[in-house]
Order: sequence, then C-alpha cells, then structure tokens
Amino acid sequence: MDSPANNNRSSLIYLLLFIGIIILVMYNFRQETSEQEELPIGVVAAQIQSGRISRIVIDENNLRVIYPDGSEAVSQKEGETTFVEQLKELGVTTADLNPENVTIEIKPPSAWFGALNILGYVLPFVMIAGLFWFVFRQARGGGNAAMSFGQSKARKVTGDNPTVTFEDVAGIEEAKEELYEVVEFLKEPEKFISLGARIPKGVLLMGVPGTGKTLLAKAVSGEAGVPFYSISGSEFVEMFVGVGASRVRDLFNRAKKDSPCIVFVDEIDAVGRHRGAGLGGSHDEREQTLNQILVEMDGFDTDTNVIIVAATNRPDVLDPALLRPGRFDRRVILDRPDIRGREGILEIHVRGKPLAPDVDLQKLAQATPGFVGADIENMVNEAAILAARREKESIEQKDFVESIERVIAGPERKSRLISEGEKQIIAYHEAGHAVTARALPEADRVHKISIISRGQASGYTIILPEEDRTLVSRNKILADMVSLLGGRAAEEIVFSDITSGASNDLERVTNLAREMVTRLGMSDELGPMVYGKKDELVFLGREISEQRDYSDAVAEKIDAEVKQLVSTSYQKAKDILLKYRAELDAVAEKLLEQETITQEELDEIFPTPNSKNAGLPVKNKA
Ligand code: ADP
Ligand code: MG
Ligand code: ZN
Repeated sequence: MDSPANNNRSSLIYLLLFIGIIILVMYNFRQETSEQEELPIGVVAAQIQSGRISRIVIDENNLRVIYPDGSEAVSQKEGETTFVEQLKELGVTTADLNPENVTIEIKPPSAWFGALNILGYVLPFVMIAGLFWFVFRQARGGGNAAMSFGQSKARKVTGDNPTVTFEDVAGIEEAKEELYEVVEFLKEPEKFISLGARIPKGVLLMGVPGTGKTLLAKAVSGEAGVPFYSISGSEFVEMFVGVGASRVRDLFNRAKKDSPCIVFVDEIDAVGRHRGAGLGGSHDEREQTLNQILVEMDGFDTDTNVIIVAATNRPDVLDPALLRPGRFDRRVILDRPDIRGREGILEIHVRGKPLAPDVDLQKLAQATPGFVGADIENMVNEAAILAARREKESIEQKDFVESIERVIAGPERKSRLISEGEKQIIAYHEAGHAVTARALPEADRVHKISIISRGQASGYTIILPEEDRTLVSRNKILADMVSLLGGRAAEEIVFSDITSGASNDLERVTNLAREMVTRLGMSDELGPMVYGKKDELVFLGREISEQRDYSDAVAEKIDAEVKQLVSTSYQKAKDILLKYRAELDAVAEKLLEQETITQEELDEIFPTPNSKNAGLPVKNKA
C-alpha cells in the first residue's frame, strides 16, 4: 500500500536527514576555516609584551590578532582557561595588557552560531525519533493506520461509471429480483412510503463462495444511482480493542450524511459470529464491533434511507441478533446455479471472446453440475488460455471440455462432477423425499427439488411450512420422518440397493424420534415424561451435554421405542412410493433433465394437492 501521503512522508524524512548532514558539515567546517597564517599562542604573548599588537578579538577559542598597520593573523587559545590567564602563564604582565597597549575584545557568540550549536545537540534526537516513527509505520503494514485507527476504511463508490450491472449477473434470478426491489426503494422511496411500506434495513446475501455475492453487491452499486460504501468485515477487526466499534460509528456517520445510500459489508461473519461463545477475552473486540453494528442499525430513523447489504458464506455461525426483524430482515440465498443458470453465466463470460461455431453453451452447462459462477468464469478463462497456447483464432468446444476437466481436477475444486449413474440415484432419492412429502397431508409444501450438490449433500429438497408454527403435532413430526426417509426408500424400491447418500436424513430422523420419546412425551409406551437433563455449556457455544437420570431398563425401552418409530416411518415411506411409483418416475426424470424442479413444476407432475383426503392417512399410533 503506497499511498501518495505515505510517499510524501518518507521523502520528508530523507530531506530532514540531508539537511542535518549539511548543517553538521558546515558546523565543523566553520571551526576550521582560516586562510590566514596561524600563530602559536606563545608568539602572540611575545608580541603583546613587545607592544606590536593593537587589537585581539576573542571568538570562543579563536583569536583574531590585528596589527596597527591593519594586517591580521589568527591564533588559538586552549579551551579550559581564559585567554588572560593563559597569557599570564606565558609571562605577560597586567601592565602589558593595559588598554593603551592592546585592546582585547570578546565577541559574543552570534545568535546563528548559538542556534547551530543547539541544533547540533537536538538534531540527532529528532533524527532518531523520526527513524523510530518511520520503522513503526512500516511495521504496521504500511497502511496509513497510524493516523487514522478509528476511521473506517470503507471505499465509497458512486454509480456514475458502473463497471458491473445486473446484466453481468446470471443464474441467481431470485436474488437479483430481491435486490432489484432494494434499488427501487432507494430510487423512489416516496412511492413505497406513501403506501406505508417500511424500507428494509438490511439485506443478507448467503451462499457458498463463488456464487456471486460480491458481484451482486457491486451490481447494486452500479444500478442504484446512490452512493455505495463497501467494506469487508475483517477490516473492522484490528490489533487494538475498540477500533472496530469506532470504525463502525465512523462508517455509519458518513453513510447517514450521504443518505440515501447503501453500505455493503462483505464477509460479515468475520465480526458477526455468535457472541458469548469465546473462551477468554479474544472475542471482546469482535463483540464490541458487532454490538456497535446492531446499535447503529437500530438507531436508523424510518426516514434514514440507508440500506445495509451484507454477505456471508457462513450463515450458520452468525449471531442470532443480526438476523432479528429490524436488522437483516431480508435474507437472500444464492444457490449453486442450475443448468439454465449456468448457461446464462457462460453467456456472460464468453461475451467479447471469439468462439468457434461448434461451441454449444447448453452442452457445457450440462457438463458442469455443481459449478458456481466463479468456477465457470475460471473455466472460460482456462479455455481461452488453452486456445491461445494452441495458436487458434477462436475458442473451440474441445478447449472448453478440456478446461472443465482442468477445473474439476484442480487442487481447489470443491464441487465434483457427478457420473450419470450417480445422478440417477440422486434424482430418485430426492424425488422420493418430494413424493412422500406431497402425499402426506401433514407434511409441509415442497418448495424446490434439486440434484445440484450443495455443501455435504449431493442433492436437496426444500420443504417449507406455509405458515409459522409454534406448536408441532405428533402427526406432523411423523410425516416429517416419513418424508425424510422417502429418499432411502426410493433408492431401495428403484435400485434394490441403498447408498450412503441418506446418512444425513437418517441422523435427522433418529434425532426426531428420540426427541419425541425423551423430550416431547409423545410415546405411548413411555408416557408424558422428560428423560435426561440437558445442559448448555455456555463457554463452548452450543455444545450440549446430557445427563442421564433414568435406569438402564428405561434406557432400553427408549431405544426400542425410537427404533419402532423409525422403522414404522420407513415402511410408510415405502408404501407411499409404491403407490405413487408413476409420479416418482416422472419427478426423477424431470430432475435428470433440468436438475431443479420448482413448486409449480411439481404441481404439474403430481397434481394431488396437500389436502386432507390425499395420500395415505397417517395414523396416530406409530
Ligand atoms: P462470492 O463473493 O459469492 O464468493 P464473487 O462475487 O466474488 O463470489 O464471484 C467471483 C466471480 O465469479 C465474479 O467476479 C464473477 O466473475 C463470477 N461469478 C460468480 N457468480 C456469478 C454469476 N451469478 N453470474 C456471473 N458471474 C458470476
Ligand atoms: Mg465475496
Ligand atoms: Zn435425502
């Protein structure tokens, strides 16, 4: 980081050093200058005695000897004693020194000379101090932090020359729409306020790395036409406690002055982690910073048009206080793009690159399941490099195919290419979840099904409740267990074999069953009782230890009951899938074809609404 201010300061130091050296040289030089003949002091004494000198000027230890004819000579006295004392030692009498014989003048030290003298003492200190300061600054990483710890390093961007617009973002349509609304809010706040709408305070972008969170935020800055402050969460965290909080204050003060505007905090998990989970004091700074962010967000008046957009790829570690209504009340999930999304992203990144006529973007999109935007950008770039190294005029399909392999095999590949066979199993597994959930009236609605791998899961089915629930009935939990087991059941029915893909489902089902028995009193066998004490270990975050307060006999009963619940649910899942085999096949096929299925598309394939008389009734007794 070499800012102009930084350069100025270091050249100032060099200038000081240079001046210092010149002064020292001049100082020494002055003491030695003399072009005149230098007489030993003994000669001067003899000449005084013989009355041949008319005047002597003493300047420190230098003597200027002036003769009656106007000629001059110089001499030196010793430093320790006065001139007169020295003369007397050489035999000069007081009579010889009477003013009629010789005038002795003592020249006062000149002001310039005195200043020089002082400088001679002070300068080394100044230079050493300067040097220390200089070294300290360098050690601090060269930032201009020494002078501005408490100021935020946020960069302000105005949308006058946008480099990124919504045109440059593809494959994450829902997120784009959501942010488009935010832009509209800022452009015409009156329109929304007149209808009584409250402008959102915070928008949280969540998604795995490379899905385009930072890109989307930049696009917003390009489109919004309002000032845009951008800062990364880690920039709040410094060596000194309290700096983060004061930077937050500074940033928000600047933003409020510029309202309407957008503040973008990238990688907010750097400060927004769960509070109170730290062992020791190392988390204090982050906590203070986070608290300050919360305070500032709460302090916005309804007419302060400042919207905070934050991005994270670890929403699971965020402090719940950040997610409360009134703070980041809008949460936008950026999924891995599906086949259509990937095609759109490919189109963006091949823009302006010469393509051979055989390039088929749709095929490329098909061949890149699991790729996120950043992977695709990387892949296109690799293809261009390959083509250039082969001295081609344009990029051919072959280059793209090869670069896909490169990106997958590369060391930093997190997503994986899924083989046809695996893809089929995953499709049926997810279809199994969807079809069972659909067939059970108590289950929630299927929102989206996908066979694009995400995190640990190779595919996923999002099932969301239509309304918020505070009470969960036993039938609802049983239905959830059945649809969780639907994936494994489908594998067994269709392939007569089962895979490791269901391990997460099984864990969740087992936990649900255990909860029902030990915590919710939902087992006839064990009755309405709670078994075991749970302790939350505050200092380890959310870790939970369990204390057993029941006998071995009861423990056996619990285990038997849990097993019973799970196996009944599994049987139920298989029954449903056998009954709706045609729908299961149709959903799986559609998944293989387009990788994701929306709620509406599922409605078409499996029109049975989630009504009371649809599907198999779930009986009360498990
Ligand atoms: P994140 O912040 O989510 O980790 P970035 O926004 O930094 O990811 O994305 C890195 C790069 O990948 C972007 O600069 C862009 O070139 C490309 N990219 C990512 N997602 C998309 C997308 N949806 N559309 C187009 N390009 C994308
Ligand atoms: Mg980013
Ligand atoms: Zn599953």
